[in-house]
Amino acid sequence: MTGLAWTPDSWRGLPAAQQPRYRDAAAVDAALAELRELPPLVVAEEVDHLRALIAEAAAGKRFLLQGGDCAEAFADCRGAIIQDKLRVLLQMSVLITHGGRTGVIHLGRIAGQYAKPRSGDTEVVDGREVPVYRGDLINGVDPDQREADPRRLLEAYHRAAATLNHLRALVDGGFADLHNPEHWDLPWSREDAGHYLETLDQVRASLDFVKCLGGLPEHLRTGELFTSHEALHLPFETALTRWAPEKGAHYNLGAHFLWIGERTRQLDGAHLEYIRGLANPIGLKVGAAMTPEELRQVLSKLDPQRQPGRLTLITRFGAGKAGRVLPGLIEAARAEGHPVLWSCDPMHGNGRTTAGGLKTRAFGDILQELREVADLHRTHGSRLRAVHFELTGEPVTECTGGVEGLDEAGLERAYKSGCDPRLNRSQSLEMAFLIAQMMRR
Ligand code: PEP
Ligand code: MN
Repeated sequence: MTGLAWTPDSWRGLPAAQQPRYRDAAAVDAALAELRELPPLVVAEEVDHLRALIAEAAAGKRFLLQGGDCAEAFADCRGAIIQDKLRVLLQMSVLITHGGRTGVIHLGRIAGQYAKPRSGDTEVVDGREVPVYRGDLINGVDPDQREADPRRLLEAYHRAAATLNHLRALVDGGFADLHNPEHWDLPWSREDAGHYLETLDQVRASLDFVKCLGGLPEHLRTGELFTSHEALHLPFETALTRWAPEKGAHYNLGAHFLWIGERTRQLDGAHLEYIRGLANPIGLKVGAAMTPEELRQVLSKLDPQRQPGRLTLITRFGAGKAGRVLPGLIEAARAEGHPVLWSCDPMHGNGRTTAGGLKTRAFGDILQELREVADLHRTHGSRLRAVHFELTGEPVTECTGGVEGLDEAGLERAYKSGCDPRLNRSQSLEMAFLIAQMMRR
């Protein structure tokens, strides 16, 4: 369809992967009609501002930190959980800012990350074949709630709105104040924190220095937070797509940033058609099967104007695999003159299943991929100025490794994810320390 007129509905009629099947089409239509009338969650000015910040990251002047749950659960729309997520992102941000001497853009996988692509349509639970869980936007994790339920479309909107409202209040209320001591209660004992203590002391000293100078100006103190989710459920995303007359463009105002996943990025599919017409900054997941030729076609479809800040390529290869693929992709983007921001998602290529059937990822594999990708960018005249993690502020036990030495036997203790395993707070902070170190090299 490239070249033909785009409308928010021009994806209809093209093959759309990973869409739920509802029994009651009239109930879906009624929910979507109501969604179309509800106020947008974000406004076009904020979206444009984020695009400008991402353009600066692509030019090497900022760093993009994108992180949050694999899938947000409706039940986690609670004050304490939202605060923990914001806190861990801000703590990581301070460490990266300090190590990299660079401003950090905070982009949560939050306030709407409710839909999941899955590898099959059904699974067997306790000897019974049931539809797979596709995220709280569609059905429930509980095997008895696997029927796609259109009432969830509205519930997702309202829970995203409540989450975003709380995030905005926290940020406006000074939660992100860097001097706030509660940011520095690290989850480790002094012994475990070992080699990080020196960095931490330096960060504290720098903050004290700024305080002596009279503190940070208001606009630096309250770190901004932007929201993002995977644009997967196309009727839902279309209902949140609005014409902004003052801008003369269509925006998805359900989030600041949307991305297309590895399983739905078919060149002639509905997802790329939908997202190509939005004015939002967008992301594309790029797995090891992507060829330079395919990337060229994707680039000309998603960003024909070569607009700075428009496109973030989020690679997710798996440890040990980037060397075969990434140099060709870097070269293709450069040859076409696209000012893309390169991001590394070192989570999605490193999944494993334990003998006991739990999905996990090893901290060492995640770190290895991140290091390989950063090194490859450096040696090929490109730069890695963004990372993408699945993480949470809660003390879950989903990924193995890290300072606390979590092993497979310990995973059962606090495994909460209904989908992919996340770094917990301690593992996230350790990762940020290591990113900070990498950036000083
Ligand atoms: C995700 O980000 O949760 C995801 C499913 O990633 P990918 O599309 O890269 O597999
Ligand atoms: Mn995931």
